[in-house]
Amino acid sequence: MQTKGYAAASATAPIAPFTFERREPRAHDVQIDIKFCGICHSDIHQAHDGWGESIFPMVPGHEIAGVVARVGSDVTKFKVGDKVGVGCFVDSCRHCEYCNKGEEQYCVAGITQTYNSIERDGVTPTMGGYSDKIVVDQEYVLRMPENLPLDAAAPLLCAGITLYSPLMHWKAGPGKKVAIVGLGGLGHMGVKIARTLGAEVTVISQSLRKQDEGKRLGADHFYASSDPDTFKKLKATFDLLINTVSAGIDWNQYLSLVKVDGTMVVVGAPETEVPMSAFSLIPGRRSLAGSMIGGIKETQEMLDFCGRYNIVSDIELTPIQKVNEAYERVIKSDVRYRFVIDMATL
Ligand code: NAP
Ligand code: ZN
Ligand code: ZN
Repeated sequence: MQTKGYAAASATAPIAPFTFERREPRAHDVQIDIKFCGICHSDIHQAHDGWGESIFPMVPGHEIAGVVARVGSDVTKFKVGDKVGVGCFVDSCRHCEYCNKGEEQYCVAGITQTYNSIERDGVTPTMGGYSDKIVVDQEYVLRMPENLPLDAAAPLLCAGITLYSPLMHWKAGPGKKVAIVGLGGLGHMGVKIARTLGAEVTVISQSLRKQDEGKRLGADHFYASSDPDTFKKLKATFDLLINTVSAGIDWNQYLSLVKVDGTMVVVGAPETEVPMSAFSLIPGRRSLAGSMIGGIKETQEMLDFCGRYNIVSDIELTPIQKVNEAYERVIKSDVRYRFVIDMATL
């Protein structure tokens, strides 16, 4: 069926109006009217081909919140009118070790990403949430909490789960010192969730410009990475440090802030390789880890957690015609703290 959206025609083209076809819902599919879609920095990396794996034309968007418009004959989990979400992937192999335990994001055969990916038929490119509707198998659709506004909840589908998953995995909670590096879309969700879990939260931002807001979001402490004293004062402090920075920074320097047996988790995905020294790990028996979004089960758990504690993203709603300007502001770290596209403007 014909679908209206916005796409990048190439790595250098602005995001512009684009019409394309989506499949009619199959027996297990849910058709969703998209109401809101967050702008993740991953959209920008991929629209600009920063990771070198882009498929064009590309309709970005993987923080999708909307309402069920139609269901296939065998759909049991959702009905027309339900408030639903779609995150970073829409399919996976469904039988590997990780799919079986609900960690589809680590599917051995690879996930089918919501956009910039090929469906499991091997030929159809996936198109994301900067569009008026999407058709997704019910197993990959999330239920949005009734009490949360759909616009501010949309970023939970990527930014929320990307921080919730490592915070849970590395057991952030009372008595744990957690640092969040970079106060952008991911970072500000990390602050809110870590605080709610009871951890002592420190933000390390490039400057003190966002300090007051960082504290309002739930940070106990706030430091600027531009101040060399920060690295002296915070040496060997954190049980868990989560690096959400979208650019290449000196990981060695940040590892020095992790205490013995602590972990630095990389979730930010810079476009360049980052040099590492063995001596950043050895003296403190430190771990360096990565983490990727979360599986469907954990994403639903995160949504329910956010519903219970009233956690949403701090957003700036934008008309779709201003996506390119929003991208420019995200690149300049000038977003408080997530742009969300109002799809009514499409
Ligand atoms: P974002 O809103 O742009 O936030 C990134 C933050 O990093 C900025 O707000 C800024 O914070 C800091 N920063 C940016 N450039 C910097 C630089 N040159 N030096 C130091 N700090 C810098 O982006 P996002 O949407 O949160 O995404 C962050 C990264 O995570 C992206 O690379 C994205 O692709 C990746 N990502 C990964 C996953 C995953 O599953 N692992 C999921 C989603 C996104 P301050 O202003 O506070 O310094
Ligand atoms: Zn994302
Ligand atoms: Zn799998």
